[in-house]
Amino acid sequence: MQFKTFAAAVALGLIALAGTAQAQDKGTIGIAMPTKSSARWIADGDNMVKVLQAKGYKTDLQYADNDIPNQLAQIENMITKKEKVLVIAAIDGTTLSDALQKAADAGIKVISYDRLIVGSGNVDYYATFDNFGVGVLQAGTIVKGLGLDQGKGPFNIELFGGSADDNNAFFFYNGAMSVLQPYIDSGKLVVQSKQMGMDKVSTLRWDAAVAQARMDNLLSAFYTKKRVDAVLSPYDGLSIGIISALKGVGYGSKDQPMPIISGQDAEVPSVKSIIAHEQYSTIFKDTRELAKVAAGMVDAVVSGGKPEINDTKTYNNKVKVVPSYLLKPVAVDATNWKAALIDTGYYKAEQFQ
Ligand code: BGC
Repeated sequence: MQFKTFAAAVALGLIALAGTAQAQDKGTIGIAMPTKSSARWIADGDNMVKVLQAKGYKTDLQYADNDIPNQLAQIENMITKKEKVLVIAAIDGTTLSDALQKAADAGIKVISYDRLIVGSGNVDYYATFDNFGVGVLQAGTIVKGLGLDQGKGPFNIELFGGSADDNNAFFFYNGAMSVLQPYIDSGKLVVQSKQMGMDKVSTLRWDAAVAQARMDNLLSAFYTKKRVDAVLSPYDGLSIGIISALKGVGYGSKDQPMPIISGQDAEVPSVKSIIAHEQYSTIFKDTRELAKVAAGMVDAVVSGGKPEINDTKTYNNKVKVVPSYLLKPVAVDATNWKAALIDTGYYKAEQFQ
């Protein structure tokens, strides 16, 4: 190696070392995610780690198996370790107040990730999607799929909600009902079971088995002589359970096609189901963008600055209105899945071959 090249290599090495040293100085960010049972949260965790590490932070990423005490213990551990900022996607948004008080006492800032933490004043910022908008889009795909907007109907529909301990579930449901209620009022949509409202249609812990069991019951109680034409489902995992119940009684054939079924998260098995014309639609929420927004919030609070927010009204957590940044969700069906999911680089085409 010539001296010049050697010197340049040493210099580069020094710069790299300096970079690492600086990276170490920025501290560790705790990331608490609910579960690995759904691919979206795995993508969220991976993207958060990637973006934060690129900004020079260390990360402590924890998944809690949808177990509330487990998540609480993970968060308390992060506080004991004096991690700089906590980014939390809560399992139950109502159970973290004591822990977050300890975080505040230790000067640790908290960012609510995707799901709003409620009942605590110690939530600094909220990074999420327009959750009411998600529900509006979900219902919009049902209107389109059934042809309600062209005056078709009446149709039978059943409604599913998400987990009642997740603030998002109410936003999804209310958003969807803002579109569906007028059709219900005019008789173009009929809920044969009459089960409406989150107190009747929610699905604890977003559990597919719970949704499948409820759909089984609905089908045997109300649809032995009638056809169910649409199912509002707030999440792809639930849609899979609902589709299993429907297949169990013969839906999904030429004579008895699947109802129009919505979803959320654009998870691979459900996108395949859309391509196969079983599930009708899903909602794509680009977790890369959410990670960018949340990491930007981390950076801002660490440096004592103010993060970019675009909503200061919507997310009242019962103690305060949490300053938020809302991203735009995208409705996906068999006509646009490639443009939304492949052309944007979110998935690779091979995943669907
Ligand atoms: C998220 C959805 C997800 C659901 C179940 C909600 O809080 O916003 O994207 O489908 O949880 O994991």
